[in-house]
Amino acid sequence: MLTTIADLRSFTASQHRAGKTVGLVPTMGALHSGHLSLVRESNKRCGTTVVSIFVNPAQFAPNEDFQRYPRTLENDLLLLQKDGCTPNGKTEVFVPEISEMYPRGFDTSVHTGSISQVLEGRSRPAHFQGVATVVLKLFLASQADTAFFGQKDYQQVCVIRRITADLNVPLEIVMCPIIREPDGLAMSSRNRYLTAAQRQQAVVLSQSLQLAETMLRSGTADSAAVQKAVTEKIQTAPEAVIDYVSIADPITLQELPAVESEAVILLAVRFGTTRLLDNLHYVL
Ligand code: AMP
Repeated sequence: MLTTIADLRSFTASQHRAGKTVGLVPTMGALHSGHLSLVRESNKRCGTTVVSIFVNPAQFAPNEDFQRYPRTLENDLLLLQKDGCTPNGKTEVFVPEISEMYPRGFDTSVHTGSISQVLEGRSRPAHFQGVATVVLKLFLASQADTAFFGQKDYQQVCVIRRITADLNVPLEIVMCPIIREPDGLAMSSRNRYLTAAQRQQAVVLSQSLQLAETMLRSGTADSAAVQKAVTEKIQTAPEAVIDYVSIADPITLQELPAVESEAVILLAVRFGTTRLLDNLHYVL
């Protein structure tokens, strides 16, 4: 297990000297099959994979769940050992302390533009600045060739693609599909916060996305009609409180009045204090 940026750098340098490419999978730990799917994809495409586990304080607002965010390092390492290492890949883990990432005097952050001001950015104003800063630090510290992110956090991938392009970061971004529970709920480290009743109700998220897809495929192009149907479906869950239902351009995330050939439908819904995200990328 690597804990310092200096050790992470020399690890990557040694891998590069050995002719191996390095894939980076940034996580906040509390690993589940969604995270492991990113590790597997990285192992498939790269000679070595670095999984970072860091609960990044900068991306949580003071009223959010930084303190109670699940920290399950021992179990995470076991899961990676059991599942993450394929015969053609070697998985290394980077687990820095907060002081390693943000030493005394740290005073810089990455300002992200319009793409980070809609949707999640509206509900969590400082979130993407925190994500962008830590992700760019991880890119520079790891010197990875490719980084793997989940579609589950669709807007996050858009923001990171924007930073990488705008700042000419020499690294490829790969977006991996959403891994779901058998009933359709997108896997998330935060699902464990749900009560049994909320967990049952949370299935409406993926069901409402399926409904949207069915409507679009059967010729409903009007976004307002789809948005209304999705909203009504989610509202059948007694504890669901909708933060947003957006039908947006897959690259800019600006709302689309009508869907022609492609759109992403993005949801954020609260169940009690737990905020869940889901999305569906629709292509005709
Ligand atoms: P997190 O630990 O929640 O910051 O997530 C780390 C990475 O795993 C991010 O790129 C997430 O988008 C990705 N991820 C989280 N949940 C899933 C999921 N259900 N399927 C695929 N990727 C996921």
